[in-house]
Amino acid sequence: MALLEVEDLHAHYGSIHALKGVSFTVGADEIVTLIGGNGAGKSTTLNAISGLVRPTQGRVALDGDDLTAIPAHQVVARGIVQVPEGRRTFVRLTVEENLRMGGFTVSDADVAHGIEHAYSIFPRLKERRRQVAGTLSGGEQQMLAIGRGLMAKPSMLLLDEPSMGLAPNLVELIFETISEIHRQGTAILLVEQNAHMALEIADRGYILQTGTVILADTAANLAANEQVRQAYLGEI
Ligand code: ATP
Repeated sequence: MALLEVEDLHAHYGSIHALKGVSFTVGADEIVTLIGGNGAGKSTTLNAISGLVRPTQGRVALDGDDLTAIPAHQVVARGIVQVPEGRRTFVRLTVEENLRMGGFTVSDADVAHGIEHAYSIFPRLKERRRQVAGTLSGGEQQMLAIGRGLMAKPSMLLLDEPSMGLAPNLVELIFETISEIHRQGTAILLVEQNAHMALEIADRGYILQTGTVILADTAANLAANEQVRQAYLGEI
């Protein structure tokens, strides 16, 4: 059984049918990427898994436990943490206070350990521990958002466009870190509009188009696929 099972997921915003029966799995030892253009339904899929959007049909299960109807904070406690698009750090709080906020489901000892862990992954955050998040660079805010997500000791991290708006060297660093977090034992579901780096670090991927999975394969096969190369890798 896969760690995460998503079956026939549907979601609506009023009359907009944003997800039209999306199904996929993520294994405990995998990085899986969801790739798609604007409005394909990538964020909606993550939000439906994390409980921020109520699916109108379908099922989300973690380790066989049905998560479909439970509230977002309980999804975190069960082991799924979402790092949202656009970072969404608490801009008036310091780096360390932001990290503490991510540890609301774990013990004080785990909070202390989690902060040290986040600093070991992102030494830059340690240097800036007393700086308010609003004054961090985009890359540092992304580090903080990921570090904050790790505070809850997730078995699975959902990452929404972590490379968005970052300079190429920072994109590289963020993706290396995602691989490192995976090596340390966290499953990753990675949403990306730019497929290049995502397919480089992922084991498998799904291509989403207007709320439907149109292609599912290993990352290597997707990267070699003509249709994918033209539509998502900017190649003619
Ligand atoms: P992007 O890469 O542009 O963020 P996406 O693949 O993440 O796109 P979603 O944000 O999931 O796509 O959007 C899927 C569809 O649902 C789009 O047609 C979008 O306009 C619509 N949608 C998303 N959020 C809302 C909302 N809060 N209210 C109404 N429609 C929404």
